[in-house]
Amino acid sequence: MRSAGNATIQKVEEINGPGFAARRMFPRFDQQAFDAQKGWMSPEHVAGENDKLVMSIHTWIVKTPRHTILIDTCLGNHKQRANPGWNNLDTPFLERLKACGCPAESIDFVMCTHLHVDHVGWNTRLENGRWVPTFANAKYLFAKREYAHWENERKTQDAAAVNGGSFDDSVLPVVEAGKAVMIDSDHQPDALLTIKDYPGHTPGSIAINLRDGGKQATFSGDIMHHPIQVYHPDWSSQFCWDLDLSARSRRKLLEDCAESNTLLCPAHFGGANAGYVKPQGDSFRIDWDR
Ligand SMILES: [Zn+2]
Repeated sequence: MRSAGNATIQKVEEINGPGFAARRMFPRFDQQAFDAQKGWMSPEHVAGENDKLVMSIHTWIVKTPRHTILIDTCLGNHKQRANPGWNNLDTPFLERLKACGCPAESIDFVMCTHLHVDHVGWNTRLENGRWVPTFANAKYLFAKREYAHWENERKTQDAAAVNGGSFDDSVLPVVEAGKAVMIDSDHQPDALLTIKDYPGHTPGSIAINLRDGGKQATFSGDIMHHPIQVYHPDWSSQFCWDLDLSARSRRKLLEDCAESNTLLCPAHFGGANAGYVKPQGDSFRIDWDR
């Protein structure tokens, strides 16, 4: 198990496998640059003739001496989604949490790095035909700016959009149950945790930083989706709200991690899932934490 001082870090996976083709995922994709990294990326991070990106959807559990915090809540069960691979899932995610010593009732805080469909799903579960908060004893911390964006977006959003429906079934019911706390980035849920804004993938994307005993880890959500973006920070994804701002925030996050020797823990990296960022030329590389 990974740790930082007196805190522990665990990963619980919901699903993992090849998904989007790399050239479809990144509008600034360059085949030659991709191929230069393919040797080490295959098969943990890229698979098949179409260079499908192998990605994991997982949650991070941080246990400090005072709190148990769940960071990003994946897709959830029984949810109607436009993406066929994400539609109406039925995974033993909650059993997996329990097997890690974190039953649903033990969670004190749920934090979402942003409010995309694959980061809010387990916020709620279906009970007698209604969506209710899954983590009954938890406060759910939502970044104010992010919440305001999706609350507004919801009014015009097509149900067939990738994110369609997720605000209504996975965010609003939490607010209506009185379990949500709207936070700014100076909010400190625990003495060992701080929040930093990295806008661009979405307007209110945040990273959550854990620091104790001289060690640091950062839970960065989708500021990067795939390790190729460590090598090419300019490659924002087709799911980014603002490609240029996202690229600037990505580079800033990589610089921050490299300077402070912080363990980078993104939401979708496969393989070892986390690693240390090192400067390389005018870009970066990742040394996996195995
Ligand atoms: Zn995601």
